[in-house]
Amino acid sequence: MKIAIAGSGAMGCRFGSMLFEAGNEVLLVDRWETHVKKIRENGLAIKKEDRNQVLYMDASLPEESEGTFDLVIVFTKSMQTDEMVKSCRHLIGDHTRVLTLQNGLGNIETLETYVPKSRLLAGVTTFGTELLGPGHIQALGTGHVHIMQVDGGESEAVKEICAVMNAAGMNVEVSRDVLISIWNKVAFNAVLNTLCTIINDTVSAVGSYQQIDEVINAIVDEIIVVAEAEGINLNKEVIVKMIVDVFDPKMSGNHLPSMVQDLHSGRPTEIDYLNGAIVEKAKRHNIAVPTNELIYHLIRMLEGRRQ
Ligand code: NAD
Repeated sequence: MKIAIAGSGAMGCRFGSMLFEAGNEVLLVDRWETHVKKIRENGLAIKKEDRNQVLYMDASLPEESEGTFDLVIVFTKSMQTDEMVKSCRHLIGDHTRVLTLQNGLGNIETLETYVPKSRLLAGVTTFGTELLGPGHIQALGTGHVHIMQVDGGESEAVKEICAVMNAAGMNVEVSRDVLISIWNKVAFNAVLNTLCTIINDTVSAVGSYQQIDEVINAIVDEIIVVAEAEGINLNKEVIVKMIVDVFDPKMSGNHLPSMVQDLHSGRPTEIDYLNGAIVEKAKRHNIAVPTNELIYHLIRMLEGRRQ
């Protein structure tokens, strides 16, 4: 399959490299010139648990990229989605499927303005990756992926994409519950990414707070009410279990979530697409979400201080 990765940072390079190794024609598209140059000249370096690897892959800036693709996977941060797709519109043909596995709310809506729902796929993934520097990523463990066609259909193309991704070891399932999974992950990140960022510490440090249940309840209860107003029925037990499970240092307890790392590096966070999106949607439905609103403002304050 001919695949372009629109936004080839940590996750884009991880998914792109897995698909490339499985025999697909993959182009890594990114606007970061040093990164693109390094991949072209020295290959993409991948640090894995058991070995290091270098893959000689094709990479290019959006404006230099040519041709149309069977699949375009969008892997920018959520606030970069619109600009990314605009600069990659020429890669999307009449037959192209576009897939987002990004975190946060709002990516599907942004992509829908460029791609019909019948050719748009959305999903979530538990794969994790760190960007170590230009042309260099660290693959963290393994994971799985849930995807669906945004209009709810089950086309042959989706089955084919699923098969191609599975052949690359991505453990993909087509699931009608993808919207619920996206909201579950938003709730998970709206609690953990933000609390770790506010206390500037690890997931297990957050988990060790004696009254952490009260904080989790305050954030998650509001999200469940907003989701319901949007027609999405979330299960609180499932969300709380997802959160509590990672407090264990053997899971990702010692991990610093990406929002903490973004803040340390002076990069904007995805807060507008997490608690910020909850606040926006709550306003539309006249629902009070004071805890999420406060968390949103605290992260914005921290971002402002960094900049
Ligand atoms: P990243 O910042 O490492 O990568 C994004 C890349 O997109 C960057 O290399 C950037 O240069 C590029 N980009 C941004 N705007 C562009 C534009 N207009 N044109 C061309 N290139 C552009 O981000 P990431 O960690 O790979 O995360 C991507 C998405 O996946 C996010 O929504 C994140 O929340 C989600 N996610 C990340 C992980 C993880 O472990 N890193 C896990 C699951 C989901």
